[in-house]
Amino acid sequence: MTVRMEGKVVAERIMEDLRRRAREEAERRNSVPGLAVILVGEDAASRIYVDRKRRSCDALGFYSEEHRLPADVSEEALLEKIVQLNTRPEIHGVLVQFPLPPHLDRMKAVSALSPQKDVDGIHPVNLGKLLTRDPGLLPCTPAGVMRLLGFYGFPVHGKHAVVVGRSLIVGRPMAQLLLKSNATVTVCHRHTVNLAHYVRQADILVVAVGKPGLIRGEWVKEGAVVVDVGINRLENGRITGDVQYEEAMKRAKAITPVPGGVGPMTIAMLMVNTFQAYLDQTRAAFEASGAKKG
Ligand code: NAD
Repeated sequence: MTVRMEGKVVAERIMEDLRRRAREEAERRNSVPGLAVILVGEDAASRIYVDRKRRSCDALGFYSEEHRLPADVSEEALLEKIVQLNTRPEIHGVLVQFPLPPHLDRMKAVSALSPQKDVDGIHPVNLGKLLTRDPGLLPCTPAGVMRLLGFYGFPVHGKHAVVVGRSLIVGRPMAQLLLKSNATVTVCHRHTVNLAHYVRQADILVVAVGKPGLIRGEWVKEGAVVVDVGINRLENGRITGDVQYEEAMKRAKAITPVPGGVGPMTIAMLMVNTFQAYLDQTRAAFEASGAKKG
């Protein structure tokens, strides 16, 4: 029987635990975690993601605010908004929703964030820390994939992990986290010749491309663990991943569904990061107040 790795269920558990911890810390610190989301333009999918993030904050008792900027906002105005949010003590996490309109440079926006408030974990400082033994805030989707593998008890150590996709927010940090957990890692991308050759060797396969059905079921190694990060909306409105699910299911030991697999884990990890950022940023004041009392 193939295991369906239900990210939705695991994410609910993480959220439950976080709600309890956040309540305890709010009492001790007399403050709550705060997240600000910047949304540029009117992209419909982004709108949905931003709403979900707000609802998750509400469910946990976090403070959240949304900053909507027009699609033609200047780079200067966007950077100014980020810098403003960096300075506000009640905001512990700042997130710029992607994609940005083409005239705005994503990395410039990310680099303007304070690394301590970069809850997406993609500021160059946090990506750099990912290469060290002492990581900062981790990119949400790859961190969520690692949590999912851990929850279902699939060891990474010594396995051959194949990551398809090398984006800054998913593929590259995913490969680093797998490497950190002692997998042997192969990264494939749009210039890889003979993708099937590499996929066939994967004990753990993580796919983040954005092309429905790119990974054919017959490529999947017997007994592989398959994580499908892709989210594609088909013409009939159905949401599907990058892996031919039904076919892959016949060979895989475990697989994530789309939707309900990696997506909910990403939001849960964003909340984990926001909570971590809050703990880090309120630590000094909290310890000082404890010292005064004691
Ligand atoms: P991206 O467009 O930034 O990167 C896509 C990657 O796929 C690139 O590295 C490219 O080289 C590679 N690629 C393209 N064609 C390929 C091919 N034929 N063979 C091998 N590699 C190929 O995308 P992204 O932001 O990394 O997102 C990838 C997918 O994951 C999208 O569907 C996105 O919606 C989804 N996503 C899901 C979550 C989630 O929480 N589930 C989070 C982020 C992204």
